[in-house]
Amino acid sequence: MDELLTIGAFARLARLSPKALRLYDELGLLQPAAVDSDTGYRYYRPGQAQRARLIGALRRLGLPLADIGELVDAPPAVAAAALEAYRAQLAAQTAQRDRLAAFLVEHLTGKGADVTTGMRYASRTETGLVRETNEDAAFAGPDVLAVADGMRGPVGQAASAAAITAVQAWKADGDLLGSVAALVGSVEQAVRDVDAGGDAVTTLTALLRGGGDRLAILHIGDTRAGVLRRGAFTRLTIDHTYVQSLVDAGSLSPEEAATHPQRALLTRALTGRGGAEPDVSTHDMIAGDRFLLASDGLTVTVPEAQLRDILAAAPGPEDAVAALVEAAYRAGAPDNVACVVADVVEL
Ligand code: MG
Repeated sequence: MDELLTIGAFARLARLSPKALRLYDELGLLQPAAVDSDTGYRYYRPGQAQRARLIGALRRLGLPLADIGELVDAPPAVAAAALEAYRAQLAAQTAQRDRLAAFLVEHLTGKGADVTTGMRYASRTETGLVRETNEDAAFAGPDVLAVADGMRGPVGQAASAAAITAVQAWKADGDLLGSVAALVGSVEQAVRDVDAGGDAVTTLTALLRGGGDRLAILHIGDTRAGVLRRGAFTRLTIDHTYVQSLVDAGSLSPEEAATHPQRALLTRALTGRGGAEPDVSTHDMIAGDRFLLASDGLTVTVPEAQLRDILAAAPGPEDAVAALVEAAYRAGAPDNVACVVADVVEL
């Protein structure tokens, strides 16, 4: 039997504060070996230090206290798997916060006020082979590139069209945060005007000329944006889908997500009910960049490596959108296809 240590001695051994130890006791995470019934002093066995240190480390990690309780009682392999999932979640959260932080830096510094680039663009939308209606909508203009993918038939078609019409009115006014917020409001209002009942659902992904050689990216749903720069294709958006949340949690690989039967389930979208939470981020524009916006009718149907090759091979945006739609059709075009391709050119 180990000798019992006072809370002070045990705290030094475990490298924790007595205050933390009292909290762990109150939460049922680490009970003292004995409590003096007269004084209320807590006593610990030296062997409890390992559990105390683990609890302390998990708290430093930022794990919620409720989860810590489950984790320290689980078999090590189970606890390790739970921590791996937590790590993946942290990485996804950090990436999202990083994009928002970059956007705010942009907003505060008004960086890139010099305009040295222009855009050449093309957009296209086609009804899928097994579809009778096309709920996808696309638009490309000098300050706005956008694709929306509506759901549930005619009301979705009206929603995506309304979202695209609203986003076309975008004008940067020097206050990036304010103008993006205003745009989200007007897009929501446009969808609400179509159907206030909440049946109207659409995705929206837009690249907005934010002043200077910069783009603000507004994104909600699973329509994707990406850029081909110096031969490499980079995705600029993260899908708001159930399968992406599984990827973020480390329980599904991106390859598994691509063929998952529930890959079309959205976790975020624009609806007539409001309360949309789009991701906002920014990206620079360099002459030679080729931006792509595409609905899932293209991105799910045609593998990303093939999209990259098509973008790299097409001489201009018109050729690129034609080749992309053709590739979706060759792959059976199970869904409607909408895409925008924009080339950044030196002015
Ligand atoms: Mg679709």
